[in-house]
Amino acid sequence: MQLNNLGFPRIGRQRELKFALEKYWRGEIEQSRLHEVARELRQTHWRWQADAGVRLLPVGDFAFYDQVLTLSVTLGAIPKRHRGETPTDLDTLFRIGRGRAPSGKDAPAAEMTKFFNTNYHYIVPELTEDQRFDIDYQQLFDEVSEAQALGYQAKPVILGPVSFLYLSKTVEGEFNKLSLLPRLIEAYQKILQRFASQGVEWVQLDEPVLALELNSDWQAAISQSYTSLANSQLKVLLASYYGSIAHHHHLVADLPVAGLHLDLVTAPEQLQTFLPSLGAEQVLSAGVINGRNVWAAELDELAEGLSSVVGDLKQRLWLSPSCSLLHSPVDLEIETNLAPELKLQLSFAKQKLAELTKLKLLLTEPNSAEANAIVLECQARRDARAEAANQQVIARVDALTEQDYQRDDAFPVRQAAQRARYRLPLLPTTTIGSFPQTPAIRGLRSRWRKGEISLEQYNLQLRQVTKDTIERQLKLDIDVLVHGEAERNDMVEYFGEQLEGVGFTQFGWVQSYGSRCVKPPLIYGDVSRPAAMTVEWAKFAQSLTEKPVKGMLTGPVTILHWSFAREDISREQIATQIALAIRDEVMELQDAGIGMIQIDEPAFREGLPLKKSDWQDYLNWAVNAFKLSAAGVNNETQIHTHMCYSEFNETIAAIAAMDADVITIETSRSRMELLNAFEDFNYPNEIGPGVYDIHSPNTPTVEEMISLMEKAATKIPVEQLWVNPDCGLKTRTWDEVEPALVNLVRAAKQLRRTL
Ligand code: GLN
Ligand code: ZN
Repeated sequence: MQLNNLGFPRIGRQRELKFALEKYWRGEIEQSRLHEVARELRQTHWRWQADAGVRLLPVGDFAFYDQVLTLSVTLGAIPKRHRGETPTDLDTLFRIGRGRAPSGKDAPAAEMTKFFNTNYHYIVPELTEDQRFDIDYQQLFDEVSEAQALGYQAKPVILGPVSFLYLSKTVEGEFNKLSLLPRLIEAYQKILQRFASQGVEWVQLDEPVLALELNSDWQAAISQSYTSLANSQLKVLLASYYGSIAHHHHLVADLPVAGLHLDLVTAPEQLQTFLPSLGAEQVLSAGVINGRNVWAAELDELAEGLSSVVGDLKQRLWLSPSCSLLHSPVDLEIETNLAPELKLQLSFAKQKLAELTKLKLLLTEPNSAEANAIVLECQARRDARAEAANQQVIARVDALTEQDYQRDDAFPVRQAAQRARYRLPLLPTTTIGSFPQTPAIRGLRSRWRKGEISLEQYNLQLRQVTKDTIERQLKLDIDVLVHGEAERNDMVEYFGEQLEGVGFTQFGWVQSYGSRCVKPPLIYGDVSRPAAMTVEWAKFAQSLTEKPVKGMLTGPVTILHWSFAREDISREQIATQIALAIRDEVMELQDAGIGMIQIDEPAFREGLPLKKSDWQDYLNWAVNAFKLSAAGVNNETQIHTHMCYSEFNETIAAIAAMDADVITIETSRSRMELLNAFEDFNYPNEIGPGVYDIHSPNTPTVEEMISLMEKAATKIPVEQLWVNPDCGLKTRTWDEVEPALVNLVRAAKQLRRTL
């Protein structure tokens, strides 16, 4: 039995790579220094893996920006605008990823998008119809040599040709991407030859596309690729992850690959599907340790499940994490502030390696004293979890009835009640919630966190900011105001910090893209709300004006999706618990006289499963969670929601089922295209399609916004429309925001006269 690893996080346990990259980009260090930091990180990470007993060490999981980008550049798939006169080098890669580098000409960065259903963003390869692929960049080969020089057996890890093509986009004209496959396979053959000449034995080719429902052309691409690559002298480990590939069983079973990796965390049942068809020589890499979450594995249960397989497979069984550990924080050991009960439940990348070692021990020496100790540890951990359960929360979820999910009356009745209460003009203007987080606000927060100012001083200053924000909106003559969210650092963290059952790490960073990392909250227990979270701020802001000020909350689906969530209960159950906490907040806001409450769900669409056949199930509970959070209010209280990063064609029925009185969406970039789904569906409630692209520093003109709203009015009855930006304004400056909003209000007023 061997231990296998698919990839290790590259960022460093203290985010060393992030800081070195940013210094290099700012011109504060030489490229040679950046390489030094990178080399040290690779060495440390290899050493940790080797110490845990991993024999074949992943190489190619390290990347200066993104592993998909490294591969594109290796293949010579470099957009023309980033090429420059000099040979391809690290700066070429940075120009593609971020539009600029210390050398070479600036040019717009390539697109970036989410890697399957993870929060990791990759740089989208751009391919032309006459695309040539040539090995053009040596980093991967250099790193293989580097690992070998340290005495390790290197196992290069790269995205397979089909996933690479699937994730890329075509440029300079439309064409079928698959027409590039033969050329791409040739390039992969060259890459594998290079590895072979370096003395490599195994190569890991990742094909996460296998978890999707592929049409026959893409299925054929898989067969064609792996049949062609079988001629190399290397052993190919075909790795799938993020979901079951059982629906491609025959396709995959027929492939001439030396080994197959299965994600047995998201889909344990596929083990039984693939075992019988495994070739006599084929290796099975069993992905049993969760590479995407932070909880310690149930090693005793895993060992029990695998024990029957061990005898059959013997040497051919590899124990692995489910996917690359890229998505998990690096090292739990350096966390010093975590409650011991919580720390006990956790396992980060380095600890996951140790879990592999322990699992092997349970399987090979089940009667040893060490094995016994591991089993006791697992039991103690489970007992501690059971003890921490919040019976009140559990009982409350159990007692929910159909009615808790429904508003008192249908939308037309509510709309009439809300109109009578608020008497807003046609095309009311509003914003999405946040206003600029100025350096002054950030400085204030950091001084408070460091203990340099008291909570009272901090709050007093924030009240000044909020007051100023309200005054500015009044001056702009916006109809429905917001308090500006100055007190919030992040829309999920702010709530996570106040909810029981949710915890925070000091160093639990995970790479999001490039040098950007996020530190998701940990939902470790039953979630409840010990006290009001936003009511004081909402009341204060509302006390400053006669105009309505929206209460501003983050929705249950988004809080869940942007956290590391426990796995001993279903995601539906967790979302329900969070929804109840938000519902309590909603009710307290209503009692405090707040008549409009926005529950943001920007991550609603992101939560969709990889397979369409699983969508409906997700949508059912996600919609229910939202409804549960909102439905307690009376007819006169107007519930808003906000969604960005969304495309509504296939989810519009679910969006309508959420039954928010008003939804604001991001539509300016698509020039209102996204409204088509609402038009076709005859979406009945009110909609604010964004007319101001807040991702751009440019000021939209009155004419542009009028023309966008006119377009919107051809799709949706004008009585249903609101006028607002695409998203929150916290990343912009007041200098940008104020003129844009002046124009936005002007546009609305002009339209009221003409439409
Ligand atoms: N209310 C939030 C804000 O304005 C919404 C952010 C988001 O949609 N991502 O910042
Ligand atoms: Zn948004």
